[in-house]
Amino acid sequence: MKIGIDLGGSHIAVGVITKEGKLLAKQDQNEMIINQENITQWIRDRILSLIHCVLKELQIPIFVIEEIGIGVPGIVKENKIENIRKYGIGKWDLAKELEEHYQIPVRIQNDAICSAKAEKQYGALKDVERAVFLCLGTGIGGVTLINNSILPSEYGHMVIDKEGRTCHCGKKGCFETYSSMQAFKKGMIEQMNLNPNTTSEELLVILKKEKQNEELNHYIDNYIQTLLIGISNIVNIINPEKICIGGSFTYFEDILYKRLLEKALTTPYQFEKPEIVLAKLQNTAGIIGATL
Ligand SMILES: [Zn+2]
Repeated sequence: MKIGIDLGGSHIAVGVITKEGKLLAKQDQNEMIINQENITQWIRDRILSLIHCVLKELQIPIFVIEEIGIGVPGIVKENKIENIRKYGIGKWDLAKELEEHYQIPVRIQNDAICSAKAEKQYGALKDVERAVFLCLGTGIGGVTLINNSILPSEYGHMVIDKEGRTCHCGKKGCFETYSSMQAFKKGMIEQMNLNPNTTSEELLVILKKEKQNEELNHYIDNYIQTLLIGISNIVNIINPEKICIGGSFTYFEDILYKRLLEKALTTPYQFEKPEIVLAKLQNTAGIIGATL
């Protein structure tokens, strides 16, 4: 058995996973207090507490766990966190801290890579030789899968408008400034004059109610069109059989996915049209993938 930890953009989830990839139990922390002065200590304490709870739930001791895997929304080098921009975290050897605490090997990887590995092993990308995984959430995480190689890919920072929106990476017009779910939600909130703190749950209810709203439909169509510019650029370089979309995009499946498929039919590609699929494992992909 292994413990998988998904340190997401807005939550922490900890699960116990079997050798076959089955999730036995899961504990979540859904509120991230990110302005804390000592954010790393806060995150480490939450992780320790969630591990304690999940082991208690299963009534198993820590020594039956052979490894702890963690997926983080940032850059990882040699099993150390290089940075997690969203939380203002720089270099942090979280693996070493947890290894010293539990005396168990701890492995850290980028969260998009974790999800892509889980989809390849158990989900929507099983038996696919060439694929691209796009995680549409706070930003856009990308992973290219060719045969058995898994390549981290920064598709989110592909420029699609040189005079476009300013990106935190220092460039203008990056794909993720238009097509991340954060950009989608921000645009929706502005379009409808909603409270800036509107949650995804509230937004989905409003969107379903306002299906006939022309202005809103125009906004959504525009969002999809821009998303497809990015997707077609990726297809023209990688020639994947499948594009798999994960992240909080899947939460808005009813509003976005059908339109995406419809518009994709008339999008010109230089290669065969790839199949655009949704991630199957949804919010467990990160935890399961962290153990792979
Ligand atoms: Zn950028």
